[in-house]
Amino acid sequence: MRLLLTTSQGIEDLAAREITSLMEGLGVPFRVEEKPLGVEGRLLLEAGEAYYTDEKGRKRELSIATYLNENSRLLHRVIQEIARERFEGIEEEEPETALRRIEDFVSGLPVERYVKTSEPFAVRPFRKGEHRITSLDISRTVGKAIFERLERFGTPKVNLDHPAVIFRAELVGDVFFVGIDTTGDSSLHKRPWRVYDHPAHLKASIANALIELAEPDGGPFMDPFCGSGTIPIELALRGYQGRIICLEKYRRHLRGAEMNALVAGVHDRMEFVLGDATRLSEYVESVDFAVSNLPYGLKIGRKSMIPGLYRGFFSELAKVLEKRGVFITTEKRAIEEAIAENGFEIAHHRLIGHGGLMVHTYVVK
Ligand code: SAM
Repeated sequence: MRLLLTTSQGIEDLAAREITSLMEGLGVPFRVEEKPLGVEGRLLLEAGEAYYTDEKGRKRELSIATYLNENSRLLHRVIQEIARERFEGIEEEEPETALRRIEDFVSGLPVERYVKTSEPFAVRPFRKGEHRITSLDISRTVGKAIFERLERFGTPKVNLDHPAVIFRAELVGDVFFVGIDTTGDSSLHKRPWRVYDHPAHLKASIANALIELAEPDGGPFMDPFCGSGTIPIELALRGYQGRIICLEKYRRHLRGAEMNALVAGVHDRMEFVLGDATRLSEYVESVDFAVSNLPYGLKIGRKSMIPGLYRGFFSELAKVLEKRGVFITTEKRAIEEAIAENGFEIAHHRLIGHGGLMVHTYVVK
């Protein structure tokens, strides 16, 4: 089986590492490819069949898609591939020609293997790049082609609000992909524990990528700008045994983090501190790991305050950090100056796609 896996741009290697570890645990032959056909934020997993033994001792087939939906911390979607194609030149094509190509391609696919005519279906589109067609055009065209093909076998049903089967049709540059979305309409990064919705919260998948980059080894771990607690909660959910400290300046966000942690069932694993990260050494003597999504001054606060805030924070961090810090921000210049001024060294830098921006991520020592 071939699965197209989606995640944030810039963390494909970390997602591949997670998938490798999950698949090795299953003992199934597999191959994972980052950015198939050059498409960012995507991975392709080819895997053999997996089995488990049920409570009555019977051998049952294990759905790898379900297994990944339930166990991955870095993926957004798990899509069973039906077909993919490179449509050279589609970006410049007249809408009618481009849509005709897509329709002809989808009409030839054996979609009846994936949906019964009694099951209502919907097509969810995704489009990225410069095209003369919209994602709505894609969903209509693909929906029509699937519908007409299914009509050979009965009377198909479409239900855009509550489909039993979701087809996903993606056009990224000139790469077209169609498959069955096994994740459903809510992406995996939208965690069920999020009852307090911070205006600038981090995607849980990216929080896990930052945790991977920090390589925490059981020593004290802190998020000094914890907001609604995404990073510390995700760490606690991974079964981390060390201290996990959540620092936040504003009471309402800290309460929100506590509410989220309660729902996640990890409140008793975390320490919640109301305080200012530019006075960090007043709250902790030392921490091994500090991982944060720093304030950017875009959604909350003023942008002009950012350089001073970063300088103040990094000078305090220098007093308490023992091992590694991982920070994500849009404010490249302000963070690089604060890092350099306080004697830290950048061990790793990468760009990660978040909220429509490519955001700078630093591992510092
Ligand atoms: N990662 C968080 C989440 O997923 O909810 C969001 C973090 S948000 C980008 C930055 C947070 O830093 C905000 O909640 C803001 O209130 C907090 N903050 C701003 N200045 C602070 C300071 N001096 N000390 C501690 N927290 C501060």
